[in-house]
Amino acid sequence: MFYIGKEIIAKVKSVLDQNSRFVILTHTNPDGDALGSILALYFFLKALGKEATPITPTPYAGFLKWLPGHSRVLKYHYHKEKIQSAIEQAEVICILDLNDPGRLGELWPLVEMNTGASRILIDHHPDPEHFCPIEISDIRPSSTAELLFDLMRQLYPEPLMNQDLATCIYAGMMTDTGCFSFNSSRPQTFQTVAKLLESGIDKDQIFNMIYNNFSESRMKLMGYALDQKMKVLASYRTAYISLTAKEMERYNFKIGDSEGFVNMPLNISGIHFAALFLEKDKHIKISFRSKGYFSVNEFSARHFNGGGHLNAAGGEWHGTLDEAVSYFESLLPGYNNELNPDD
Ligand code: 5GP
Ligand code: MN
Repeated sequence: MFYIGKEIIAKVKSVLDQNSRFVILTHTNPDGDALGSILALYFFLKALGKEATPITPTPYAGFLKWLPGHSRVLKYHYHKEKIQSAIEQAEVICILDLNDPGRLGELWPLVEMNTGASRILIDHHPDPEHFCPIEISDIRPSSTAELLFDLMRQLYPEPLMNQDLATCIYAGMMTDTGCFSFNSSRPQTFQTVAKLLESGIDKDQIFNMIYNNFSESRMKLMGYALDQKMKVLASYRTAYISLTAKEMERYNFKIGDSEGFVNMPLNISGIHFAALFLEKDKHIKISFRSKGYFSVNEFSARHFNGGGHLNAAGGEWHGTLDEAVSYFESLLPGYNNELNPDD
């Protein structure tokens, strides 16, 4: 009952046997699954006696800065030179939680330059661009963390398990499933959770550190966003929130403070499609979520140069916030049949 076939396991095993210098990379604005996965792989490789460097292309939210091993992470923003030399000298480049090399941001050109390294992709997004010779890509697992745990267990049963590793895997699974509410209907997901609990992790503490660890200003921004900045378009079963840079500044905005905002309009009865528009320095960052069959990754790929999963995707707009929002609204009539399938 594994996600990954024996042939790929054998390939990964031989890469592990033959190499000792690894770098572990993930996407820009890493979320809990991205960070949990690179850290879990870091602990795994360390336990095997390898040299391993976890790297992110950008900084990440404060509520992830307690994860075991997080202080080992090199962030491109702060550690350019160290990262350049780590990637240049790597024998193996592991890439986690993304299907499109563009999501590596400024790390991708460095990866491309190291033509001699083996490249391994571990990811759960649909339709990967084929940029890694060893591709472990499967949309069935809840998260990259769950898929990675499957790989680890097939490579080295039980003995390598430790609580730090298990905590990182659990944090990745929990955050990518909204606390096991979506992407988590497979029994296998809960069998994995059972294994993690057996290792002695404190699941309540992990929950508290992630979800009960926000600032007062973040809570107030949420209240403002819902009360003043949410627009409900009931006839399209759609609702969205938009925030200007000034509004975010007013609430002392820190990376991660808008985490979860995009899901909130879906709590409204009858709303099946939600979006969040945030005005950043150089572009508008957009998040999309849906309930049911409306494919937000296709919507985002077609109109906002983005991608993701069926029910959770992101994209961007190069222009003003008002333009992004007006364009979004103008697209909805074209999707009326999909947004109102019962009419
Ligand atoms: P979020 O809205 O939380 O940033 O991202 C939701 C999902 O969409 C994640 O699975 C993420 O990987 C994907 N995603 C977010 N932003 C982008 C983007 O700009 N491009 C692509 N291809 N995927 C994105
Ligand atoms: Mn993920």
